[in-house]
Amino acid sequence: MRIVLTGAAGFLGSHLASRFLDEGFEVVGVDNMITGSPENVARLQERDGFSFRRHDVSTPLYVEGSVDGVLHFASAASPVDYIEFPIQTLKVGSLGTHNTLGLARAKGARYILASTSEVYGDPEVHPQREDYWGHVNPIGPRGVYDEAKRFAEAITMAYYRVHGVRVRIARIFNTYGEHMRPSDGRVVSNFIVQAIRGEPLTVYGAGQQTRSFCYVSDLIEGLFRLYSSEHVGPVNLGNPNEFTVLELAQIVLGEVGSRSEIIYGPLPTDDPKVRQPDISRARELLGWEPRVELRDGVRRTIPYFRRRIETMDARARSLP
Ligand code: UDP
Repeated sequence: MRIVLTGAAGFLGSHLASRFLDEGFEVVGVDNMITGSPENVARLQERDGFSFRRHDVSTPLYVEGSVDGVLHFASAASPVDYIEFPIQTLKVGSLGTHNTLGLARAKGARYILASTSEVYGDPEVHPQREDYWGHVNPIGPRGVYDEAKRFAEAITMAYYRVHGVRVRIARIFNTYGEHMRPSDGRVVSNFIVQAIRGEPLTVYGAGQQTRSFCYVSDLIEGLFRLYSSEHVGPVNLGNPNEFTVLELAQIVLGEVGSRSEIIYGPLPTDDPKVRQPDISRARELLGWEPRVELRDGVRRTIPYFRRRIETMDARARSLP
């Protein structure tokens, strides 16, 4: 069995590649390295069955030989990144989804789209179920990601209806863990890195907005089950335990054992006030639910960031 995985150098992509290799698949990883990590690629290249192509999937992708699955995980995913790369984000979500669906169609492969809780925008329904259509500002700074993913879902369903491609759509909620870049910019990595360095934790707004954080191993298990299932249409994948950003800051300070202070900055435009997945569909269809509590997941993630920071600091010291 052989899969093509876009975004293989990214946070989720690199974990997914490892999981599929563990399951005996050959993995063709693709990434244009705008936000992917060379460290993630280097680790995967040590493994049998993995090959890597540097390619921007906004342009057509040709792969020789048989392909059983196409997994489209390429995209900037951190708000700071998609706001820095708005046009690339729109292109990978639209043209990239079109190209990868075309590949799946040509190869008779199954297809899984990495969609997002951002399709719900700043939600007026809480928690969010898959039948909620969302509340997105199409012209705001986050719209580049949200609308690209909404288009991606629409074209994915069209390829199912018109061409019979066996598609699955994962609506992924906030996820954290090892292999995120220290400079990723999302809240869990920011807080852990700041706490380790003894720098102030940057809470945006009053910190009363909520998120529901899923540890990466739980998410990967859900994704693998979804890939293996026959379900067409969106499935929420995330941890339904909801926390305020301020609660997260306290947990991180406690687990790192840091005395960093908390400072408050402006809330980004259109920052969702609440977010929590209703995972009834995933429970029912996939027999899946997350197991790792936030405090435990944060504890598991800290040593990874400590190593990354030590390596980065050692490299900076060795520069002339
Ligand atoms: N956030 C924060 N401090 C940071 C980074 C993010 O308070 O250093 C907040 C952000 O405003 C949002 C929440 O944490 O309310 C989650 O942000 P993240 O960028 O992780 O992902 P989002 O859920 O917004 O896509």
